[in-house]
Amino acid sequence: MKKIQSYQAAETAGILLNANENNLPMDERIHAAIMEKLQGAALNRYPDNDETELLQAYGNVIGVSPECILAGNGSDQMLGYLISTFLGKGKILYTLDPDFSMYDYYASSYEAEVKKFDVEEDGSFDIDAFIEQGRDASLVMFSNPNNPTGQCLSEETIEKILQGFSVPVVVDEAYIEFSGQESSIRLMDRCSNLYVTRTLSKAYGLAGLRVGFAVSCAENMKTLKQNFVPYTLNCLSMAAASAVLQFHDAIALNIQKIIAERERVCADLQKMDWLAVLPSKTNFVYCRSRHKEPFLQELKKQNILIRDYAGTDTFRISIGTEQENNAVLDAAHKLQREMER
Ligand code: PMP
Repeated sequence: MKKIQSYQAAETAGILLNANENNLPMDERIHAAIMEKLQGAALNRYPDNDETELLQAYGNVIGVSPECILAGNGSDQMLGYLISTFLGKGKILYTLDPDFSMYDYYASSYEAEVKKFDVEEDGSFDIDAFIEQGRDASLVMFSNPNNPTGQCLSEETIEKILQGFSVPVVVDEAYIEFSGQESSIRLMDRCSNLYVTRTLSKAYGLAGLRVGFAVSCAENMKTLKQNFVPYTLNCLSMAAASAVLQFHDAIALNIQKIIAERERVCADLQKMDWLAVLPSKTNFVYCRSRHKEPFLQELKKQNILIRDYAGTDTFRISIGTEQENNAVLDAAHKLQREMER
């Protein structure tokens, strides 16, 4: 059997601030709309293979024609599909270090090599050097905003990267809604090597539904659609997602709340002498500390789970509800007081 680099799924007990989910309660109107929609689902039939309703609904949200969109089981599946399409044995996936760990998982499952370009401690990197060192790549893939650093490249920078490579470039926009920046989808018509992935797991609070998208120009998408696994998305996920996508205002409000909490958490954590916190364009904060261990232990005592990058001095904390965030801040202040003693 092939040895694939395994993925550690997130733990599921306690205050969960380890998987960048949306912890805010769902708006009651959205919940009611989902329930109504599910009742009408034809469970005895195969789902609509053209994903018509869902692609139309998402197309309206992002301002793109359905022929340029493909939906699957989370953006994870879309990333895996793009890797399987453009890579194979011995080919090179070019990405950043750090970046989302699933790229390694999929690349290794298709026996491709992964080449990584190191970013600075503040998440920035030299774009010209990045382009220069990626000449041997068959596929470029990175998250924007970046998981875990929380930094976001501008549209102009993304365009420069797209023009710097002739091979496909996948921009993983799982967290773009929290960035206040434009999606690079707007570059699609000018840059035929652009593929963007998006998800309903983060800003839309639907991680359990497993709905994600790939977006590219119509010509690229025609080929991608032809070769995609039939009936991938089940009718319940498609129906529920289509219902949620009608509630623009409620979703936007939810995003604003998370951004406000992120700014509050960041500002408070930045007061700690023992901690370096990067500003974030996402629904999580990335931290570095030589005193990581006592902090992790304190969080554990409070039953709070965050994402620890073992073997480094870094960790990532998802933004939760106000109460959950306060629990994190209390633990940080406790450590600060102990250090001042
Ligand atoms: N991209 C990034 C950068 C992520 O952090 C995640 C999830 N943690 C995903 C993609 C996958 O999300 P999903 O499959 O739920 O759409």
